[in-house]
Amino acid sequence: MSSHNPLASSRIAVLGYGSQGRAHALNLRDSGLDVVVGLRPNGPTWHKARADGFKVAEPAEAVKGADLVAVLTPDMVQPALYRDAIEPNLKPGAALLFAHGFNVHFGQIVPRADVDVILVAPKGPGALVRSEYERGRGVPCLWAVHQDASGHAEAKTKGYADGIGGGRALLIRTDFKEETETDLFGEQAVLCGGASELVTKGFETLVEAGYQPEIAYYEVMHELKLIVDLFYEGGLARMLQFVSETAQYGDYVSGPRVVDAGVKARMKEVLADIQDGTFARNWTAEYAAGLPNYKRLKQADLEHPIEVVGAKLRARMPWLQPNTAAAAVAPLKKAG
Ligand code: NAD
Ligand code: MG
Repeated sequence: MSSHNPLASSRIAVLGYGSQGRAHALNLRDSGLDVVVGLRPNGPTWHKARADGFKVAEPAEAVKGADLVAVLTPDMVQPALYRDAIEPNLKPGAALLFAHGFNVHFGQIVPRADVDVILVAPKGPGALVRSEYERGRGVPCLWAVHQDASGHAEAKTKGYADGIGGGRALLIRTDFKEETETDLFGEQAVLCGGASELVTKGFETLVEAGYQPEIAYYEVMHELKLIVDLFYEGGLARMLQFVSETAQYGDYVSGPRVVDAGVKARMKEVLADIQDGTFARNWTAEYAAGLPNYKRLKQADLEHPIEVVGAKLRARMPWLQPNTAAAAVAPLKKAG
């Protein structure tokens, strides 16, 4: 593939070696492309990238001479990284690639006019991007071109998506606005925010009605995995095929009572806050202030009674134990 890849004679700098960075760097290299990894010296993943055999340099050094710079650090550190390490060192005509459009879409990064600005967002965590590639397959990717200075931005984007394996699966064209807004909405309203509130409110309802917390935990948190796995494998049809008629009837009559038109109206409010920049403004200010509310709200989640009973019950699920450490070091940033 690499001989036909438009990036075949390009130098690619991958900044960040976390969930996405490591998977992209390894896949690009295995696709025959030239990769250098940019990291803070002796930062948490510096030695890991070295041990994987990469040439590792400080971000500013990695950017010098690169034809494509993949910005795969946490979103909130990208504006300063762009200002300090990328912008002063990026070659004219080079490509700046993101895996999430947040900073460009909300104007936190305004890239120079002489560079391409492109996006390849795998629809899966880095570990899956890597393991599917190793099996000769790939994870579907969204791709977009925000700015085409070289006239080759689209070819470079597809070359990168092919290099990480996405081209073996499915490439869906989008733009930075759609990728950013739908990604934020999904994680807020349905995945992280919506699902955790649905579970904890269900748990509280049962416990306040006098039922044992252990049993409430199994019913509203533990068993959610079985349902989500069925959604993942075959959508609503597969879920309905595998649950009892009683569960189906209860679904039809009670689901819409809980998640009603009022919930949908508030989902639209959440979406409006994302679209008009209110969420991005609040989150950027919260981050700049040292995360006071974030830390308080996170602590409250961690101290919720469902966490106390959950830890106790999961300790008796031996099949979970090997995964627990891995899950703790590789937090699910987002399912989307
Ligand atoms: P991560 O937190 O797993 O890894 C971040 C990496 O950046 C680490 O190697 C860290 O050491 C390094 N880093 C942190 N600060 C740095 C700095 N100042 N300079 C240089 N390196 C620094 O991040 P991630 O989850 O892989 O996310 C990277 C990007 O990919 C983000 O834009 C994110 O939105 C996007 N994305 C993530 C996923 C996912 O599943 N995790 C999926 C799609 C898109
Ligand atoms: Mg929550």
